[in-house]
Amino acid sequence: MVYLDNAATVPLLPCVRQAMHEAEEKFFANASALHTPGHLAMNKVEECRAVLAELVGAEPSEIIFTSGATESNNTIIRTFEGHQIDCSPMEHHSLLEAARIYKGRELPKLYSYMLYNNETGEKLKLPVTDGNSFLHSDLTQTLGKVAVNVKDLGLDYATFSAHKIGGPIGVGALYVRDGAPFKFLLVGGNQEHKRRGGTYNTVGIAGFLAALEYARDNKTWDIYNKTVRKIRDTLAKRILVGIPGSSLNTDTRRGKSLPNILNVSFEAAEGESIQLYLDAEGIVVSTGSACAAGDIKPSHVLMAKTGDAEIAHSSIRFSFGLDNTMADVERVMEVLPGIIDRLQKISTIKRSKDE
Ligand code: PMP
Repeated sequence: MVYLDNAATVPLLPCVRQAMHEAEEKFFANASALHTPGHLAMNKVEECRAVLAELVGAEPSEIIFTSGATESNNTIIRTFEGHQIDCSPMEHHSLLEAARIYKGRELPKLYSYMLYNNETGEKLKLPVTDGNSFLHSDLTQTLGKVAVNVKDLGLDYATFSAHKIGGPIGVGALYVRDGAPFKFLLVGGNQEHKRRGGTYNTVGIAGFLAALEYARDNKTWDIYNKTVRKIRDTLAKRILVGIPGSSLNTDTRRGKSLPNILNVSFEAAEGESIQLYLDAEGIVVSTGSACAAGDIKPSHVLMAKTGDAEIAHSSIRFSFGLDNTMADVERVMEVLPGIIDRLQKISTIKRSKDE
């Protein structure tokens, strides 16, 4: 299998699997309990908190564990319930939907701008805040791919998720700047200094810790920048040269996008069809964001970027990970030109245009 859907989720790193097995045996106790097994479990939680804080330039006390980026995003929006909320149109649905439901007219205002988009990889410009506004950034796709420092970015809040860096699904974190407003979403427990109720997912957090340590020890952002970028850029060039009607939705110039995402539209070929044909060849890609899979609406991100439903409907996201090689590009280029050619020939969109 050629797996090119790493922006949706990264397969568990072997070191993560091992850390989780160990945690199941050794750190099974309730981390809030006052007995020795409880303390051992809590030590793991605190170790993870310290490593994440170090990696993103925060204080450990500014990190809250959650069940993932969706919960982190929802928590921040609920904190600003009834307030003005200004989100970039490229935000993930977990942010946009919550903002649609909870936003109001009060000040202070919340800005929510992701640093890098999950569908196109595009880098967004973060707004500057004043005393009457706060800034949240969804760094789910950024962590481990690009070195990041929440203080340098001037953030009040940031969202993280373990499964985008080879950790387990169902664990995430929230950075809340010391002194920034905060309201809890999950009530009914005193965990996380009364900021998030619920028994600690110690096994998941131990997996998150292993993934964070892997990123830190291997400086994965350097590998993405050098090795993964080359693979991504090679595929981009090969597609543009080899496939008529192809156009990039990702600006591959340095500093403009994440190094591991390539979003491409193929004129008169439908994204879902391309995805299915590639899947039949053992090549795994996605159309837009996986969370919107089954949704027949065109990607809101590509619509915001291009305003063109045809481009949005004919897009494919190739997202690379640390395991991909140039051989994967070769494999894609063995089959993709034929698939696009076949789809373009039978396309009603192209035919009606040609007529
Ligand atoms: N935000 C972004 C930018 C994402 O890419 C994703 C995953 N598709 C999420 C939020 C949701 O993450 P989780 O699965 O951890 O809830």
